[in-house]
Amino acid sequence: MKKKPSQKKVLVVAAHPDDEVLGCGATIAQHAAQGDRVVLVLMADGVTSRTYDPQKSMDRVKEMRANRKDMDRRAQEAHQSSAILGISKADVHLMNLADQRLDSYAFLDIVKRIELIKQQVLPSVVYTHFWNDLNLDHQIVCRAVLTAFRPKPGGINADIFHFEVPESTYLSVPHRRGAFVPNHFVDVAKTFKLKLQALNAYQSEQRDYPDFRSVKFIEELGINRGKAIKAPYAEAFAQLPAIGFQTKLTMRAATHEDSRDIWAWRNDPEVRKQMFSKEVIPFSSHQKWFKQKLEDGQSIIYVFEDQGQTKVGQVRFDMEDDNTASVSVNLNPQFIGRGWGTEIITQATQALLNANSDISTVQAEVLKDNTVSQKVFSKAGYVRQRECTKEKQSAVVFAFCKPEKA
Ligand SMILES: [Zn+2]
Repeated sequence: MKKKPSQKKVLVVAAHPDDEVLGCGATIAQHAAQGDRVVLVLMADGVTSRTYDPQKSMDRVKEMRANRKDMDRRAQEAHQSSAILGISKADVHLMNLADQRLDSYAFLDIVKRIELIKQQVLPSVVYTHFWNDLNLDHQIVCRAVLTAFRPKPGGINADIFHFEVPESTYLSVPHRRGAFVPNHFVDVAKTFKLKLQALNAYQSEQRDYPDFRSVKFIEELGINRGKAIKAPYAEAFAQLPAIGFQTKLTMRAATHEDSRDIWAWRNDPEVRKQMFSKEVIPFSSHQKWFKQKLEDGQSIIYVFEDQGQTKVGQVRFDMEDDNTASVSVNLNPQFIGRGWGTEIITQATQALLNANSDISTVQAEVLKDNTVSQKVFSKAGYVRQRECTKEKQSAVVFAFCKPEKA
């Protein structure tokens, strides 16, 4: 399958190799097929609990050495299965903590491992276990994910979805936050086959029907979950209502000090793919161009920062003739796929129109195959006008017209 340019960053954190497939395998495959980057973290080794004997307490290194063969096999299966779902090998992290004994570690150690990956990936979507799962490893992983992604000012906001692992998710006595009642269903008709193939890759975990680990059981569950949304197959998730800090962006006029950041964003390889001129711009020529833009009175550049004062992106307006401005946008590549493009375009367009009463129309030109940016402009209230050719490439023109005063 040919991958589209990366759109979202998705993190999946599961306790044992195969939980990720049981819980959200088809959803993972769907993200990957859309061009999203999926990073998978598997906390425990999935095998050492089977030989664990508290009478002969071995240290962890010895235990791992003794179980090397089984651990290697399970790791190999995890990689095969992930490849089927479309996760690249470098994005599969096997933490190899002691199986069914995650409670033997300091909770902080588990949280820190997840936080480290969170910082590297900056995901906007997270999938993990359900808080009231009977399996203690599952519970611990869920709590550690919620802790690692706890809201804090300037922190990142991710949507967290909790998956079901039949049948450990249903066996617990519901307490506090209740039993697993899904409130989010993903139609996975197109990728359900891949989930079953990925499950088959875990040969060492295969059981006969009606065991919940059998392929047939999982297929039946998918069909049942699909009924909730009238789809042939679905995966079901529970999502807590969003809590805590909403990251607010602040807007200010650009200064000479922003030059280097904006140059670096502009030269990012992923960003350049979406631009009309794709060559790398040397800093000296950017510097000269940027200085002119700041000083010639024909452009307005706004820079947006989050609450930690990290620059999120810039929106530039160039004044054209006849009451029209053209707009161009650059996000800090670190923040792409978090839905902030729409927000900064909306805020900047309002600010421009409020401050310049003679401007009535703002125009944007977007490459025809850059459907992500087209959606972003549409969401910000821009209306698709026509197709055109710019620098020998097919493009679409969007326009935002100042509402007439009543
Ligand atoms: Zn598990």
